[in-house]
Amino acid sequence: MTRSFITPTPREAVGALPSYAAGKPPVPAEGLTPYKLSSNESALGPVPAAAEAAAGVMTMHRYPNPGAEELRTALAAHLDVPFEDIVTGTGSLGALSQIIAAFAGTDSRGTADEVIFAWRSFEAYPIVVRTAGAKDIMVPVTEDGRHDLAGMVASVTERTKVILLCTPNNPTGPALTHTEVEQFIGRIPDHVVVVIDEAYHEFVRSDDPVDSLALYRRYPNVAVLRTFSKAHGLAALRVGYSIAQQSITEHLRKTAVPFGVSTVGEVAAIASLQHHDQVDERVGAIVEERQRVVAALSEAGWQIPQAQGNFVWLALGENAQDFAHAAGVEALAVRAFSGEGVRVTISEPEANDRFLQLCRTYSGSR
Ligand SMILES: *Cc1c(COP(=O)(O)O)cnc(C)c1O
Repeated sequence: MTRSFITPTPREAVGALPSYAAGKPPVPAEGLTPYKLSSNESALGPVPAAAEAAAGVMTMHRYPNPGAEELRTALAAHLDVPFEDIVTGTGSLGALSQIIAAFAGTDSRGTADEVIFAWRSFEAYPIVVRTAGAKDIMVPVTEDGRHDLAGMVASVTERTKVILLCTPNNPTGPALTHTEVEQFIGRIPDHVVVVIDEAYHEFVRSDDPVDSLALYRRYPNVAVLRTFSKAHGLAALRVGYSIAQQSITEHLRKTAVPFGVSTVGEVAAIASLQHHDQVDERVGAIVEERQRVVAALSEAGWQIPQAQGNFVWLALGENAQDFAHAAGVEALAVRAFSGEGVRVTISEPEANDRFLQLCRTYSGSR
């Protein structure tokens, strides 16, 4: 007799969660070098010293140093902030999870706290927020892919605990300005944590870039998120961190998963900071390629939102999957968001050229 099982039921919030859809690898095509343009990784990789430091770790049988103190010491010097104001995490996603777990969930009567963010934005946001038991309040981005900051202010209620700003916004591309972020913070109640997710801040070229460190120094409710995954080319090692005043960080240390940064990740991140000039060169090369791609797209008749990260956004709507398929035939993996658009990572010149050629010849409506 076969026994039938009733499978375990997850929490209601988890049952209704979307799964994180990671960027797919490219499918090889005859005579073409395949390129993965679907995860905003650094095509140029880490600086050699970081890769060497990671490869040289001989203490894999030991737990990493608790609280990543050496990395925090290096970051504190690099950013000129107190060591106590930095909390590391398993990627900046790990750092974000600490913030949400500490400040948003459900109260003792079971009522969900609210977390406001723009949408479409980073697809991990609703997952992290709902997993904590909080409610996500998504405020649609404007036609040109920008945060609707006035709409976000208008969405604040007495249940709002955290607001996430993503600048530059993944996947649409525009960056916020310092002026608008400071005005925004001025209109948010002091007890609401404002997170500034700056995964791509190194790539911003703007007249009025967000000076998030000035904002965190001035406002005790601001937390800045940074990562080694993008500009530093260390995505596989999962190293990120938040910067906030101690009235916030003291709580993040409690919600952090212990030993969230491995020894390998820590030494590589430190080496990358020590060779920041080489990181800057890599970022500069990607920014130049981005400017070339944006100019060529515009010449080919594409209207795209301001691109301030290491990626561009094609608002293809219903044709998003069709375009992604056409790119796949050319051995290019891009990231399609069904019914909305396609995000394409700026990569090696050859990959960018092939992508541009596809854009020039793509026959679907845009
Ligand atoms: C890539 C990305 C992150 C960083 O993820 P890690 O966990 O640090 O690898 C965070 N926020 C946004 C908006 C991103 O695009």
